[in-house]
Amino acid sequence: MKVTADPPLVRNQSRKWLQNTQTVGFVSTVGALHEGHLELVRQAGKENDHVVVSIYVNPLQFGPGEDYHNYPRALAEDLAMLEKEKVGLVFTPSNKEMYPQGFSTLVKVQTALARGLCASFRPHHFDGVATVVVKLLGVVCPTRLYLGQKDAQQAAILRQVILDLDMGVETVICPIVREYDGLAMSSRNKRLTLEGRKTAPVLYKALKVGKSLFDLGEVEAPKVLSEIKKIIQEEKSVKIQYLEAVDGLTLQPISRIKKGSMLALAAFIDDVRLIDNIVI
Ligand code: AMP
Repeated sequence: MKVTADPPLVRNQSRKWLQNTQTVGFVSTVGALHEGHLELVRQAGKENDHVVVSIYVNPLQFGPGEDYHNYPRALAEDLAMLEKEKVGLVFTPSNKEMYPQGFSTLVKVQTALARGLCASFRPHHFDGVATVVVKLLGVVCPTRLYLGQKDAQQAAILRQVILDLDMGVETVICPIVREYDGLAMSSRNKRLTLEGRKTAPVLYKALKVGKSLFDLGEVEAPKVLSEIKKIIQEEKSVKIQYLEAVDGLTLQPISRIKKGSMLALAAFIDDVRLIDNIVI
């Protein structure tokens, strides 16, 4: 497993593989890796001859007052985890490589996919994500990009960006990997206090209740959402940022839930922002 911060080195290696008609699967991460990331890596390993992983905490996708500076960073542990997987190359650039002096391009996402949910509260987040991912795809030149359903809005937007810009990269969206108690795995879980960690599974528990209400015949989104909210609000330390029922493909709000709809939320616990969703 090669580790490098040098973009031309990554591009040359990837091009060599592609010239030999071999495929390259790519997983882009902000590091502090966990099983959720590793499942993407494994899926990429099954479907491609080579796997490239990037680890880079992208300042562009953090807003003022967000956790860029205290986002968990654990490069040595990350590399040790990747060493055990089928990974040929790890790209670990710093800001110097990604945004050198004179860098002046921003990808602006204008799709309706980037209107509600997280975008309402993190106005420049998806422009930052799209910019870095377009850049990473330019460096890595992968055949396929692996994304997690955990960040459903991000995955939908990136798929649209790749399509719009004719980048010719196939996107593969992988299911959410959860802790034993249902909490969606996230690098930010490391920032929860012991108490917060005990409380956090309520998010998925409540989403599951929402889904079972639909299974029992309730289709009115406001009713389902209000039941979910009630369960979460029993935990006083949880502050819901948003809780929405949306169409699973367009991500637009819906008033009636049907198969394929998505219930999605963001909430703060201990000032740590967690997101989760469930597809009906
Ligand atoms: P991040 O490092 O948080 O930017 O995540 C990198 C990729 O891993 C994104 O495509 C995420 O959606 C995906 N990912 C993160 N957590 C999970 C999880 N619990 N289950 C599945 N995919 C995940």
